[in-house]
Amino acid sequence: MKSHQLKLYNTLSRKKENFQAINPPFVGLYVCGPTVYGDAHLGHARPAVTFDTVNRYLTHLGYRVRYVRNITDVGHLQGDADEGEDKIAKKAKLEQLEPMEIAQQYTDSYHRDMALLNTWKPNIEPRATGHIPEQIALVEAILKEGLAYEVNGSVYFDTLKYNEKTPYGRLSGRVIDELMSGSRDLDGQSEKRNPVDFALWKNAAFEHLMKWDSPWGVGFPGWHLECTAMSSKYLGNNFDIHGGGMDLMFPHHECEIAQGNACNHKDPVNYWMHNNMITINGQKMGKSLGNFITLQELFNGDHDLLEQAYSPMTIRYFMLTAHYRSTLDFSNDALKAAQKGYKKLINGLRIAKMLEYQASDVAVDKKQIEQIESSITNAYRAMDDDFNTAQAIGHLFNLLKKINSMYTGQLESAALGEETFHKLINTFLTFVEEILGLVEEKSDSQNKMINLLLKLYTEAKMARDYDKVDEIRAGLKDLGFVVKDMKDKIDWAYEE
Ligand code: ZN
Repeated sequence: MKSHQLKLYNTLSRKKENFQAINPPFVGLYVCGPTVYGDAHLGHARPAVTFDTVNRYLTHLGYRVRYVRNITDVGHLQGDADEGEDKIAKKAKLEQLEPMEIAQQYTDSYHRDMALLNTWKPNIEPRATGHIPEQIALVEAILKEGLAYEVNGSVYFDTLKYNEKTPYGRLSGRVIDELMSGSRDLDGQSEKRNPVDFALWKNAAFEHLMKWDSPWGVGFPGWHLECTAMSSKYLGNNFDIHGGGMDLMFPHHECEIAQGNACNHKDPVNYWMHNNMITINGQKMGKSLGNFITLQELFNGDHDLLEQAYSPMTIRYFMLTAHYRSTLDFSNDALKAAQKGYKKLINGLRIAKMLEYQASDVAVDKKQIEQIESSITNAYRAMDDDFNTAQAIGHLFNLLKKINSMYTGQLESAALGEETFHKLINTFLTFVEEILGLVEEKSDSQNKMINLLLKLYTEAKMARDYDKVDEIRAGLKDLGFVVKDMKDKIDWAYEE
């Protein structure tokens, strides 16, 4: 394992802490996955990219990460509340399909979009409907502890009673008295003893589509309970990292902490990590605001707010240029700038793969070596400081300058010495492809075709057929490539 001291910001303690795995080199990482009732949108992409990068960097450091990300296919009700229609069942009725057809369709499209964003698959991807017995067992355990009660076939968590021994609200910083006075039972019909209580199991009405037998009658599990059941099954009752979007902090994650403590008398998670939200032109994203953009719309440019299509790697790069705890604002200008930055980095990647060390009698340049060493150290330092990808990318661009100088002949590889040369190339490639997950977007035949055109270009140039030369150059430019006429070679690059 690499000797890095990784620091990460723990939402629970509200400070950066030195990361210490419970059982190194193993790390348990649980991330709340999507509720599969619609196409994945920007709000799905940010946690996926954030925790993919966490997974990648931990893996790079030598940890063996067990990454568990669930699929919520039951129990997530409208408004994230305890009353209301199941989001998947509602969509199923609308489209006249089985709820499981809806869940399958949107699980598949989620997987397609996550693959395009080059995120690693989770090691385990449990579905809530596949873990009903585990959820029933959890409800029984909480009842046995005296921290839940049954009413008319539903079981609720007794938050006030739990709070007598273990404070509720530590993660989100909410105080139970304020929660009590701030929430009203609007219709006076609630079965709950207190408005801060939440459902562990809900009795299902006759027309309810997804329901199972339980000791309390036919019903379905509460949304918060699902994540406790699945995380504890695959990662244990106390595991390393739990991640998700900030919008899940309350009540979802707060309830997970309460459920875990109620059953096992200990905190379920050591480090809570939350990515911040995305805004669009400075506004919160929402269906009613007309600025709700799915990933497919973004990739195809198929939305009124979009001036063009933005590729999956442009989106990934854009997300990495901000720290995951900062808000990130989407606009056409910001995305175009990201597209430029991504192409710059990928042009560097192509060059770095082509460059070879060439021994010569040129003197070793100590200053150059120092600059490279310090950029490498700083790139790691940025990642060690709560996964600061934004800063790491800045240091990568410093390395890229050196790579470009060697490409144009301003800097000889021999001036770096063989060791530094290889360290520079390897670090750059490792960071871009392996840690940040940014790869060249191309079809297999793309490079072959460009090289063929460059051959024709060179021939036309030698034959002094300048019309042909201009035609090829303009044609490639239309496709997003620039021809580079250099002293001793002809090459191409992505237009930045
Ligand atoms: Zn969850």
